[in-house]
Formats: sequence, structure tokens, C-alpha cells
Amino acid sequence: MKHDVIISGAGPVGLFLACELALAGCSVLILEKAEHPHSPLKQLPFGIRGLSAPTIEALYRRGLLHELEVPKRLKNPHSGAVQGPRRQVGHFAGIPFHEGNIDTTQWKYRLPGDTDTSIIAEMKELETVLTRRAEALGVAIKRGIAVTGFHQTRNGVTVQTTDQIFQSSWLVGCDGSRSTVRKAGGFDFAGTEPAFTGYSTQVDIVDPEKLRPGRNVTAQGMYLQSQPGYLVLQDFDGGAFHKEGAPLTLEHVQEVLRRVSNTDVTLSALHIATTWTDRARQATTYRNGRVLLAGDAAHIHAPLGGQGLNLGLGDAMNLGWKLAATIHHKAPEGLLDSYHTERHPIGAQVLDWSRAQAAIMKPNPEARALHAIFRDLIDTRDGATYFAGRVWGIYTHYDLGGDHPLVGHSVPNLEWEDGTKIGELMYDGRGLLLDFSPDRPLQPLAGGRLHYVHRPAKDQLGMAALLVRPDGIVAWAADTAPSLRHASAAASRWGL
Ligand SMILES: Cc1cc2nc3c(=O)[nH]c(=O)nc-3n(C[C@H](O)[C@H](O)[C@H](O)COP(=O)(O)OP(=O)(O)OC[C@H]3O[C@@H](n4cnc5c(N)ncnc54)[C@H](O)[C@@H]3O)c2cc1C
Repeated sequence: MKHDVIISGAGPVGLFLACELALAGCSVLILEKAEHPHSPLKQLPFGIRGLSAPTIEALYRRGLLHELEVPKRLKNPHSGAVQGPRRQVGHFAGIPFHEGNIDTTQWKYRLPGDTDTSIIAEMKELETVLTRRAEALGVAIKRGIAVTGFHQTRNGVTVQTTDQIFQSSWLVGCDGSRSTVRKAGGFDFAGTEPAFTGYSTQVDIVDPEKLRPGRNVTAQGMYLQSQPGYLVLQDFDGGAFHKEGAPLTLEHVQEVLRRVSNTDVTLSALHIATTWTDRARQATTYRNGRVLLAGDAAHIHAPLGGQGLNLGLGDAMNLGWKLAATIHHKAPEGLLDSYHTERHPIGAQVLDWSRAQAAIMKPNPEARALHAIFRDLIDTRDGATYFAGRVWGIYTHYDLGGDHPLVGHSVPNLEWEDGTKIGELMYDGRGLLLDFSPDRPLQPLAGGRLHYVHRPAKDQLGMAALLVRPDGIVAWAADTAPSLRHASAAASRWGL
């Protein structure tokens, strides 16, 4: 059977993309290398992942947010014991920003609504929820089958695996940082080499009182004890240890820990350990003919401030409806290529964000001087608001042109008098046409791929009408007298 799309990799990005495509009526096959979906590294505490506003909104707008139980019971891991205005709600290079300093009035179009700005999730649970959803939508998932290569023609893609061949119209590589699809497709993966090796470990500590709680940026690196025995370390060795791939022994982890913590702490057992780096690379194009990349396959960077998963899920939300429209011959010229045009700059910003953090965490006098300046800036109202806005993805937007400031941004969390909320209107993956004018000027555009809503919202933020793409991005907005001609032009630009 020839599928519309084969996705290589059943990580969170591959699964979410499959859900988006299946929701839009495409047939999808996921090929996943691993036999079993779970590993201890996907479970708490290693599997902890911070989700930011765009991801939370995406999950909410597909009816998936409430299925995650972990965020309901886990509070912000940065907050520690301090409550009130000095409650830590995030960090940049280990420098905290505090709740009381954040001026949310600067985020004019952000309504309180149903979604948080950041939550804590678990990889295992997220993948479980997405797998359930994908299977319910008819996605086929074959595990224990690794994609080894592919061949594309004008009409389709032949995908090779360890022992079988599969056919599809499109192939998307969601196969992680070492993506086979990226390598086999000859995608250029440009970027910078690492400054450090990061360690995530579970250990037994003989004298834990020698370590300070929380995140500690030291003169030699960084150590973080998220809970007793669970340590994250950063050792500025130029990424050498990770690159060598030498065995991770108790003695090695203890030596690194002693050096970065500047203590003589002793470890008696090493249970789990993995390494990572701040290598930052990005595919120079996300599309080569009928082959596309998303998630870590398209971009890698340090997990400082936790952005990679958010970035990847954002790719999936952006790509799903565009690829589906292309498959159904409903896509206007250039729609699929707008995936690269919109997502590549967002990825580049995240890579730079992680590079900036690694740069000021280096154990040298210049970095320490910069670190001190950043610490002062983050503790100001504008500073905290800026850093929170970046870390939580509030400022994420696409440059779509248009003369309304909301165009290219996520639609606000609008709510109607009857209790209907914006998220509920987007569960089916269609675009939205919100018409707040009394005389229904936009009604002729209703139907097909657009859900037309003509009712006043509780807080319309001064707007008279809005066109929202299936990924929740505002394509067009008017504050007064919405013009059918302008709305219609915007709808055709996006094939809605
Ligand atoms: C320590 C750490 C902490 C992090 N914290 C955060 C955080 O707080 N917030 C955040 O947003 N991000 C965080 N990240 C990053 C995040 O985990 C990744 O960006 C995310 O998992 C990427 O998802 P993905 O689906 O693209 O790739 P992956 O999760 O890597 O999934 C890829 C899948 O493809 C499969 N695969 C590989 N090769 C093949 C093949 N040839 N054929 C078929 N299948 C294949 C793999 O088995 C895997 O299942 C963190 C990362 C680390 C290391």
C-alpha cells in the first residue's frame, strides 16, 4: 500500500505530525527504529520537559492538553521553596527570572484563558498520549524498523529499511539529531561545535550535604541536583568526552562532579548516565523535493532552557496542514515552501539563544563579567519580561506581512459569552474566521476549510474580525469595518 506520508521516527515530533496529517485526512505510516517506545530516560526525572506557550496552545487546540496528568501534579522545577514575587519561574544560563518582575501588560494580545505560559511534562506521557491519538486517527506505527535510505522521483518516495521497502508520496524525517533521512538526503547541516559535555545521571552520593541544592553555575561549569541523586552537570571540555564516546564510569562522573562543584564529594554508585552537548546545527533547508525534515532532525542545540521539543512540535504544527493541503491538491503555490521560510528563522533564533547561554556560562573571566551584567538586567522589570517572553515563546511569530500587529502571531485565547473557548473551535484542524461585526460581512467565506464564527467574544481586544490558520496563527485581522475583499485575499493566500 502506498501511503500519503511516511514519517521516520516515532518521537514526539513524528507522532504529533502524524496526528496533524491524519486529522486532515492523510494516510500516514510511521517507521520507528526502536522496538519499544519507553526508556528510563523518557521517564521523570530525566524525561522532564518544559513546555512553553506555543506548544501548550497547540496541544490545547487539538484537545490533548487535558490528557497530560504530569503537568497537573508537578509544579515549576525552578520555583524551589520561594513563593510570592521572588518565585523563580525560569532561567537564562542558570540566572533566574522572578514572577513578580514580569510585566504581562506588555503582552497586549495575551488573554489569560485556559493555557499557561509554561508547564512541566514528561516525555513518556507525552509520547503515550500522542501515540494513542495517532492510532485513534488511523496512523499505522511500525516499531523495530529503521529507515536506512530512500529514493525519490517526481511522483513519490521509495523508503528503504533494514529488510523491507515502503512507498509513499512524501517522506518526513523526524528521526532525531542523528537523522538518517537528513544524511541520506544530503541536507547541509550547518552550525557550531560544542563548548561542553553535559551529563544527566542518577547516582548514590555518600556526602550529599557537600552539594548545594538547585542550579549552580560555578567557576568550572554547572551542576544541578533536581532531586536527591539526580544530577545534571556541564563540563567545559569542548564536548570532547561526548565525542569520544568513552564508557561512562562512576570514577569519571565523580571526577567531573568534584571539579565543577569544587568539592570532594564522593559517589558510591552510578545507576543511569547519558551525555549531550551544546553542538548547534541546523539544516540549511527543511525541504528537498518530496522529503522534509522536522524536529531534532532539522536542528540541534543545547537543552539549556528547554526549547528543542517546543521547537520540534512547532515544526509539526506548521507543517501538518500545509503538507495535507498539498496532498489534497488544495495548496496555493508556495504553501509548502512557507514551512521552511517560517520555521527556519525560528529555529535559528533558538540556536542563538542556546549559544548565548553557553557563551556566558564558560569558566573564564569574560563570561563571568557578562554573566554578572545579565544577572542585573534579568532582575529588572523589562529584563524579566523580555527573558520570560523569549523562554516561554510569547514573542514567537512569523513575518507574514500584513498591517495588523497580530498577523503572524498565535491567536489570543478568545472566549465567548456561552462559554465556548477558542481551543475547542480548533479541535478539527480547520481554519477559523471570526466575525465580530453585527452585520456578518464575512459570511460569504464560510464553509469548506474555514469554520465561520459570528458572535461577539467576551474580550475582542479591539478587533472586528480575524482569520486564523489551522495552526492557530493569525493570517489576517481588522480592528474596524472588516473588508470581505481583504479577508478573501488572505484566505486564498493560505488556501483556506
Ligand atoms: C537532557 C535534555 C533535556 C531536555 N529538555 C527539554 C525541555 O525541557 N524542553 C524542550 O523543549 N526540549 C528539551 N530537550 C530536547 C528534546 O528532548 C528534543 O528536542 C526532542 O525530544 C526532539 O524530538 P524529536 O521527535 O524530534 O526527536 P527524538 O525525540 O530524538 O525522536 C526521534 C525518534 O526517531 C527514531 N529514529 C532514529 N533514527 C531512526 C531511523 N533511522 N529510522 C526510524 N526511526 C529512527 C528514534 O528512535 C526516536 O524514537 C531536552 C533534551 C535533553 C537531551
